[in-house]
Amino acid sequence: SVMVAGAVAALSEIWGELQRAAGATERLVELLNVEDNVRDPETAQALHDAEKGAVSFESVTFHYPARPSQAALDHVNLHVKPGETVALVGPSGAGKSTIIQLLQRFYDPDAGRITLNGTDLRDMARHDFRRAIALVPQEPVIFAASARDNIRFGLPGASDADVEQAARAAAAHDFLTALPDGYDTYVGERGVMLSGGQKQRIAIARAILRDAPVLLLDEATSALDAESERAVQTAVEALSANRTTLIVAHRLATVKKADRIIVFDQGRIVAEGSHDELVGEGGLYARLARLQFTDGLAAE
Ligand code: ADP
Ligand code: MG
Repeated sequence: SVMVAGAVAALSEIWGELQRAAGATERLVELLNVEDNVRDPETAQALHDAEKGAVSFESVTFHYPARPSQAALDHVNLHVKPGETVALVGPSGAGKSTIIQLLQRFYDPDAGRITLNGTDLRDMARHDFRRAIALVPQEPVIFAASARDNIRFGLPGASDADVEQAARAAAAHDFLTALPDGYDTYVGERGVMLSGGQKQRIAIARAILRDAPVLLLDEATSALDAESERAVQTAVEALSANRTTLIVAHRLATVKKADRIIVFDQGRIVAEGSHDELVGEGGLYARLARLQFTDGLAAE
């Protein structure tokens, strides 16, 4: 009804405000694990072949409800093969995070469609959809709990052995065992403070536990010390192996490791290819790469 539509529109605007409020989205996403303003269809189709994870954007156009005059995505066609890792790069405001938002169904496209293994996201049951996608947010939430429980949050009920295995894969085991009470150390609010790189590895360990076929990763823009940076890089590689991965990339090292680089500008895909191909073309990508992405993003 009109009233429901109005309420939904109002909610999306509030949601938009929340997003702008200091990365609140990422926190909420992780907390609520995909609570959105979109309802399941009456006849929800099951996810076929959950382990595959092919992701497609088919001529997707999208405007944020709070900004109807500007297309955040403009006829985007993007096909990610099962197991492939793509890096999404481009200047600030290009539409990279919007891709990640739509893949979590915070919003549906205005035109075109997004599919997972050929099924429109709008036709998938919420349960199947949730199982299919894991997110490593830019600023992970650390709960006031033990380090162990913070990782177990990725898969409630996981055994201590599974938690430790995930932590090892996420290059977190060594720093965790060095904490005063090891994995039982209380972290987060009023507990031991973790560095940005350590928080990221906890979030990666959570995602490894979840073992979803599709991984969305919004790389942190904040600087990490060299050791953390290497450890996070190792962890990301472990996590993205054999999984369809979309990374909003802010580091040249991450970008270079991707199977394919997709360059966004003003809501459109303007180039794609390997690092060498794109540098050879000498366009926007070459400029961003020269600036090592980080500063370039702010400067552009
Ligand atoms: P990127 O991640 O590449 O920096 P975004 O996907 O966040 O870019 O943004 C794409 C466009 O959409 C930008 O013009 C941005 O200002 C706009 N935008 C992003 N989030 C919102 C929102 N919640 N409401 C309105 N406009 C938004
Ligand atoms: Mg962004």
